[in-house]
Order: sequence, then structure tokens, then C-alpha cells
Amino acid sequence: MEMNYCMHCGTKLQMREHPHEGLTPWCESCGEYRYPVFNTACSMIVLNEQRDRLLRTTFWLRVM
Ligand SMILES: [Zn+2]
Repeated sequence: MEMNYCMHCGTKLQMREHPHEGLTPWCESCGEYRYPVFNTACSMIVLNEQRDRLLRTTFWLRVM
């Protein structure tokens, strides 16, 4: 999914190098990076072998 225009002000987005994310859509008018609105969440539950401990985590993946 490619975003061409800022969802807040409608300005055409430019691709700018983000220090951590690589090339990311940038709105010159807002002065902010604009991330695509489609997100995927991933949750998982991990049990140890004795099944008496539970680790649970949720993280978000951004789909570019
Ligand atoms: Zn904008």
C-alpha cells in the first residue's frame, strides 16, 4: 500500500530517509513522517516446557 498524499493536509508526500525506518513518506507541510494506515498486529503466547510460565507479547508490524 503506497500513500501519495498526506492524510491530514492532502499535500503530496515525498520519500525521505528516516534514521531508523529507511525511506518513509514525508509531508513537507506538516513536517512529519506519514506512515501507512494499514497495520497488522501479531500476538503470541509462549509456554515453557513445564507449562507453568506464560510469556505473552504483542507487537505491531507496519505494512508498507
Ligand atoms: Zn500534511
